[in-house]
Amino acid sequence: MKARLEALCKKSIAECSYEEIYRALMTIVKEESKAREKAVKGRKLYYISAEFLIGKLLSNNLINLGIYDEVDGLLKESGKSLAELEEIEPEPSLGNGGLGRLAACFLDSLATLDLPGDGVGLMYHCGLFRQNFRNHCQNETPDYWLDGAQWAEDTGKTYEVSLAGKEYEARLYRLDVTGYDGRTNKLNLFDLDTVDEGIISEGIQFDKTEIDKNLTLFLYPDDSDDEGRKLRIYQQYLMVSAGAQMILEECEKRGCKLHDLADYAAIQINDTHPSMVIPELIRLLGEKGIAFEEAAEIVTKTCAYTNHTILAEALEKWPESYLEEVVPQLMPVIRKLDEAVKEKTDREDLAIIDKGHLVHMANMDIHFTHSTNGVAALHTEILKESELNQFYQLYPEKFNNKTNGITFRRWLLSCNHELTEYIESLIGPGFKKDASELKKLAAYGDDQKVLKRLMEIKTANKKKFSDWLFKKQGVALKPDSIFSIQSKRLHEYKRQQLNLLYLIHQYFEIKNGHLPAAPITAVFGAKAAPAYITAKNIIHALLTLSKVVEKDPEVSKWIQIVLVENYNVTAAEKMIPACDLSEQISLASKEASGTGNMKFMLNGAVTLGTMDGANVEIADCVGGENIYIFGQSSRQVIRLYEKGDYCAREWYETDPNLRRAVDFIDGELMLSEGDEGSLRSLKNELVGKDWFQTFPDFNAYVVRKNQAVTDYAVNPEKWAKMALLNISGAGYFSSDRTIAEYNEDIWHLGETEEVSGIEEEAVRAGNGHLGQDETDQKNI
Ligand SMILES: *Cc1c(COP(=O)(O)O)cnc(C)c1O
Repeated sequence: MKARLEALCKKSIAECSYEEIYRALMTIVKEESKAREKAVKGRKLYYISAEFLIGKLLSNNLINLGIYDEVDGLLKESGKSLAELEEIEPEPSLGNGGLGRLAACFLDSLATLDLPGDGVGLMYHCGLFRQNFRNHCQNETPDYWLDGAQWAEDTGKTYEVSLAGKEYEARLYRLDVTGYDGRTNKLNLFDLDTVDEGIISEGIQFDKTEIDKNLTLFLYPDDSDDEGRKLRIYQQYLMVSAGAQMILEECEKRGCKLHDLADYAAIQINDTHPSMVIPELIRLLGEKGIAFEEAAEIVTKTCAYTNHTILAEALEKWPESYLEEVVPQLMPVIRKLDEAVKEKTDREDLAIIDKGHLVHMANMDIHFTHSTNGVAALHTEILKESELNQFYQLYPEKFNNKTNGITFRRWLLSCNHELTEYIESLIGPGFKKDASELKKLAAYGDDQKVLKRLMEIKTANKKKFSDWLFKKQGVALKPDSIFSIQSKRLHEYKRQQLNLLYLIHQYFEIKNGHLPAAPITAVFGAKAAPAYITAKNIIHALLTLSKVVEKDPEVSKWIQIVLVENYNVTAAEKMIPACDLSEQISLASKEASGTGNMKFMLNGAVTLGTMDGANVEIADCVGGENIYIFGQSSRQVIRLYEKGDYCAREWYETDPNLRRAVDFIDGELMLSEGDEGSLRSLKNELVGKDWFQTFPDFNAYVVRKNQAVTDYAVNPEKWAKMALLNISGAGYFSSDRTIAEYNEDIWHLGETEEVSGIEEEAVRAGNGHLGQDETDQKNI
């Protein structure tokens, strides 16, 4: 390795700059990855997603290729460090939150389990946006990350895509996805050569009509106007049309006759953004001479759909006229699909095109795929019982649950070396490939030596995070305080505003001499969608409160509030190992699964959460005594919504503590630091609407959180044992388990073999049919 590195750099490692070492290692990783590519036999998965939040790649690839320790040692010998080397790698900006991170975890697990499965997406030049804070407000700039050496390579292949009657060339870039001791798969990303970052003006503004220049600039361009909404359709179609052409081309090369497409390809539609792949495939098959009915059948057998949300506003519905303008070639297909549905049922809520001429993408997905899955047990139940109940009645066999997971390679091995090593010293290395082995840790629940060491590692991680944050934002934290962390997208349903109200409540309590059992460091990491005003108001209130508290010596002894700028995978990797209390406080029924919750528990944090999403299963895995649960149940919440009689003002008027906290938001102190319009508008939003029902859960949250803080302070052994049992109970949440279930129930992917060029022919010839209806009935 040393010789190889030095040969690439043409000098000794000690003489190399980090940039030179980075480039050399990138070359070595690419060579090693290539050596693990395997030919496909049978069905191959294409995971289509608008987002892949993959995070930095170097360290993770070194771990997966089994050369991390060697490289680490070599660098150390030469007075360099891998940690510093990591700093120079830009984080790919190809995703936004949990959905994109899930896609990235899935790619890792597919490769690790030696399953043939590639990602298909778009190459965004500036990602979502880069966040910084100015005057206690979120400020957005383009997240340029494409400068310098790139993991993705230009394949030289292009696909023609017709948008609004004009032809565009989608260029295919590809990057390697390594598995932990597994195969190498690919992430396929499409881009246009004509995209021009020069058209970005102030912040992240740009001309939304210059499609050839703007198409892949940003992920989720502002859709608060018509042009923005159309731009999303443009983007989605570029992705699915180029993707579908690539898939058909690959399958045909392997001997597919298109009638048997489902024997060669499984396509997973990650949320509704790639839904147009359904009509696009039907259209392409039509061009190749396959009649509509058969094409629709083939596509239904090939495709499966994952639902990620029950928030109605997140289920895409496009005006027919927009689609007619941007993708006129698809409309005849979509109308035929709609007619086919209308022959089957006259229920308006099952139609693809409704009476108001809106095209319901999720409805098309459910009708014309063979599997619809939710992402946590509770979420799937809610889909079946309420949100998608009419669909469930029509197609009970299509519905199944696949509880999300996370890759332990990134979220333990890579982000928490000390803990990984310590676990290995206790139970051996088996947990790295078989996460269920973490259970063995439970045997140490009463071993004081182990518990003490565990807490030492946690403290060291809190210090590391604190140092990192100090370098980044000049903020110093107290590692002996309890670190409560809420990091995730800023959304009202996730209820950062509930945490805000708690912190204000504590402010008053401290002022009145009721001190918390331990000093509290409240850490937030969150981006708000640029056009989402209330979310931005919540950020503003948190930043303003942070300043108010900081200025008050009496309170700042006990509370510190920190917002980590530009929350992304890199930040998450620093924050999560440092967390004591994991804040998972969404309104029950609204968080489909959450995956942050899993990362935190795996790193020894205890969850404070509602019975929502995967929190329910986390509680199952660790037992009620090792998690702090509070708040209304999903049933209660759903009933309140159905009756429509939730009145926030009543709670505000009858609960003096709540009222005191809410009034503080636009009180004198906050106004002395913050913006009146923003703070007032947040307060009005809460008192007048509180659409995500923070008020009914306020008291329960305060009580439960204070209990956690007290346990942490007063009973550190109990706390350490809870932390240990959370780690040992996290095995179920490995994305290896999730992917194995997808494969078993939905994909039935082909075996992979090391196949040389000559043998490939024989493999193709022997490609058998799967010979069974692909629909999944197992989980019903
Ligand atoms: C895991 C992850 C998320 C998802 O967090 P949730 O709490 O599940 O919403 C979002 N962003 C980043 C950077 C992540 O790593």
